[in-house]
Amino acid sequence: MATEKKYIYFFGSGKADGSGTMKDLLGGKGAGLAEMTNAGVPVPPGFTITTEVCNLFYELGKRVPGGLDEGMRKHMSKVEDALGGKFNFGDPERPLLVSVRSGSKFSMPGMMDTVLNLGLNDRTIGGLIAMSGNERFAWDAYRRFIQMFGNVVMGVEKDVFEHIIHEVKKKKKVHLDIELTAGDLKGLVEKFKARVKQVAKREFPQDHWEQLIMARDAVFGSWNNPRAITYRRLNDIPGNLGTAVNVQSMVFGNMGDTSATGVGFTRNPSTGAKEFYGEYLTNAQGEDVVAGIRTPHPIADLEKEMPAVYKQLREITTRLEKHYRDVQDFEFTVQEGTLFMLQTRTGKRTAHAAVKIAVDMVAEKLISRDEAVLRVEPASLDQLLHPVIDPKAKLQVIAKGLPASPGAASGKVVFTADEAVKQAKKDNVILVRPETTPDDIHGMDAAKGILTARGGMTSHAAVVARGMGKPCVAGCETIKVDLKAGRFSVNGVIVKAGDHVTIDGGTGRVILGKVPTVEPRVSGDFGTLMKWADEVRTMGVRANADIPRDAKMAIKFGAEGIGLCRTEHMFFASDRLPIVQQMILADTTEGREKALAKLLPMQRSDFKGLFQAMGGFPVTIRLLDPPLHEFLPKREELMCEVAVMHAKKAPKASIAKKEKLLHRVEELHEFNPMLGHRGCRLGIVYPEITRMQTRAIIEAACELAKKGKKVVPEIMVPLVGLKKELQHQKGLIQATAEEVMKKKGVRIDYLIGTMIELPRAAVVADEIAKEAEFFSFGTNDLTQTTFGFSRDDAGKFITHYTENTILEKDPFQTLDQEGVGELVKMGVAKGRSTRQDLKVGICGEHGGDPASVEFCYRTGLNYVSCSPFRVPIARLAAAQARLKEKGMGGSGTK
Ligand code: PEP
Ligand code: MG
Repeated sequence: MATEKKYIYFFGSGKADGSGTMKDLLGGKGAGLAEMTNAGVPVPPGFTITTEVCNLFYELGKRVPGGLDEGMRKHMSKVEDALGGKFNFGDPERPLLVSVRSGSKFSMPGMMDTVLNLGLNDRTIGGLIAMSGNERFAWDAYRRFIQMFGNVVMGVEKDVFEHIIHEVKKKKKVHLDIELTAGDLKGLVEKFKARVKQVAKREFPQDHWEQLIMARDAVFGSWNNPRAITYRRLNDIPGNLGTAVNVQSMVFGNMGDTSATGVGFTRNPSTGAKEFYGEYLTNAQGEDVVAGIRTPHPIADLEKEMPAVYKQLREITTRLEKHYRDVQDFEFTVQEGTLFMLQTRTGKRTAHAAVKIAVDMVAEKLISRDEAVLRVEPASLDQLLHPVIDPKAKLQVIAKGLPASPGAASGKVVFTADEAVKQAKKDNVILVRPETTPDDIHGMDAAKGILTARGGMTSHAAVVARGMGKPCVAGCETIKVDLKAGRFSVNGVIVKAGDHVTIDGGTGRVILGKVPTVEPRVSGDFGTLMKWADEVRTMGVRANADIPRDAKMAIKFGAEGIGLCRTEHMFFASDRLPIVQQMILADTTEGREKALAKLLPMQRSDFKGLFQAMGGFPVTIRLLDPPLHEFLPKREELMCEVAVMHAKKAPKASIAKKEKLLHRVEELHEFNPMLGHRGCRLGIVYPEITRMQTRAIIEAACELAKKGKKVVPEIMVPLVGLKKELQHQKGLIQATAEEVMKKKGVRIDYLIGTMIELPRAAVVADEIAKEAEFFSFGTNDLTQTTFGFSRDDAGKFITHYTENTILEKDPFQTLDQEGVGELVKMGVAKGRSTRQDLKVGICGEHGGDPASVEFCYRTGLNYVSCSPFRVPIARLAAAQARLKEKGMGGSGTK
């Protein structure tokens, strides 16, 4: 038996025909209104015309099914009843006005059309004036209605109306709409109507039913406007879902002293404190509260002014919070003593508040621990781990770069690493460079923050700063650094060495002068939440750390080992660099070995420090990776120096020495160093380097093992693409380790593994795994080599790509799962096909990015490794990944 289709769903008077689960049929908004009504929330009554009607509308050639208009009339009567018969649609005395809004299953913000104040016409305007006692408001509402309806329904361009308003203002010699009087607005209404008639070739409809039917059809029609179609295509929303149309009574907070309007939160969104929070205005419209024309009152005052309403509001919002089991951000209007809730949604909050609220709600038994873990956006934890700019401070922002490493820092500008070290003894300094290189490391260490004009999110400055937990703004292309003159300029502002600037590495802002910062306090709730995260997490989290200080920090933040120690960073200290240079400049193996012998005890003590700081957790140490010329002075600088020496007739011997250095630098010069003589290629050409580093690692481990300490070194060979490369290095490592252990008289367990950072390595991972006991995906290089994007230069175009949606995200920040991710998957699968128990991790910057961490979990990685400051983020993201896999949804609070 065929039942008659229900096309219209009513909501009001505490009862809705639909429910919150009916998003397909009622759209998101309609389902939400039904759910709120059923939950006893006094939402202004109305009805929803289903998405099915929208599809029929198109099937029938832009006509609605028979009987729909009649059904709407019936439902309008129900709306009038729900309002106590006090307002009626089309009534000239007390007109009921309605909004007509679109609403599909998925939110498509601003893509489809909306009409407000429908029902106003030349007769009902008198009623609105009488009810509100505010002639200006009423005429303003009427002219806005004609504008909106004229544009959305009758196809009159927005500019047409704007032009008329502009002309009137010009004539009246005023600048703002607010300066127009009731009389001016009344005049506008007439002008608008006349213009509509001229453009649309018909009168502006005065019949309220005709208005409603036209608006309904326009909203259905807007489902297929070009904006909506494009939006659906970009967001994978199917075109056959259709939109619902919500017709809802308008309520007014400006109908005298028993009316009001306001906004609020069920808890403080800034601190998370459980307190009723918000503001309101009596005899006002919603816009007045947000527009800042009148200063709103704190919501507590409402208790005195309208005690019954206040009590009801508290009761409703408390219930809403319980119902949705999360903080609610709500809007309300009181119309002649009757409270209406216009909107309630999950409240946005700071990270600090998010953590407190999640932990409090578990104590209140509102949510489970697992839900609490899902409630906090992992990336937002950054806010809790670094000093931030005092929100009360006045700022003169002069430029914006990439937010490369979070936190805020103020200091005097210095332009060289040496100057940074010198000045840092007396003052806080900000190191400003066109870009940084490994030989700036001492300056970066001394500075409070780093600002570079070039480079992307994985440029040297960005990676090192994040590792150090130091604020960094990178790739700030608008600043022009003039190192010679000791200044930089940006948009006409000149900043000289010694001037103060502040950088905000969380937003990329560069601010002139000193700005106060605040240390965010990490409360006990943070620790509690992290403990819960660790309880559900199964994937390990390690840190990238090169020195004991960073390793200790990593432990403090909950790291379970070091996933990457970049040994080259140990070579840049001022007492070591000359020895490293001596090694590089040596012409013979013996010469190199002599220099390496001097480095050996230094490296050994570095490793000992690291092992001790990690207290028995595994430590992955990577053999030397960067091209050697990074340790030498710049070619251009040397050429200059040689020329100057010649000109000044310097002693022959010193010129010869400099020239020899220049010659070697020229020999080592590479056009494409990132793809040049680096990684394992160094240890293959100069095996003595691998031998020395292995010796230092194993000697340190043996010495500690002798004292009964647990040490687990994992020796990692970088940039392997061929099995034979790894085989070669492995042979050297094993032979050296055996020799050391024999000599020391102890045996220790150690692993030999490789980084997978070249596409070829991923493709032949089954072969490589024959030699490797572990893999660590170096996704910085793997991204660089897969895309063919230089990681140091990509900053120049990546923003253009992301802004123009050629790329959705910067692949150096968030792993490109489609491309690079497939190589990771292949590498894991092939690797484990050879060696079932192959330990696999990731140590590229992606190891601290929540979306990438989730990918790593799904791909079966044993651990992720990231900068110490991102360890808590990775822990939380790894926990969430597991919960999501178990079917618990939720994306946290953005
Ligand atoms: C990588 O390439 O992902 C990596 C961790 O190594 P580096 O950043 O030192 O090249
Ligand atoms: Mg690498």
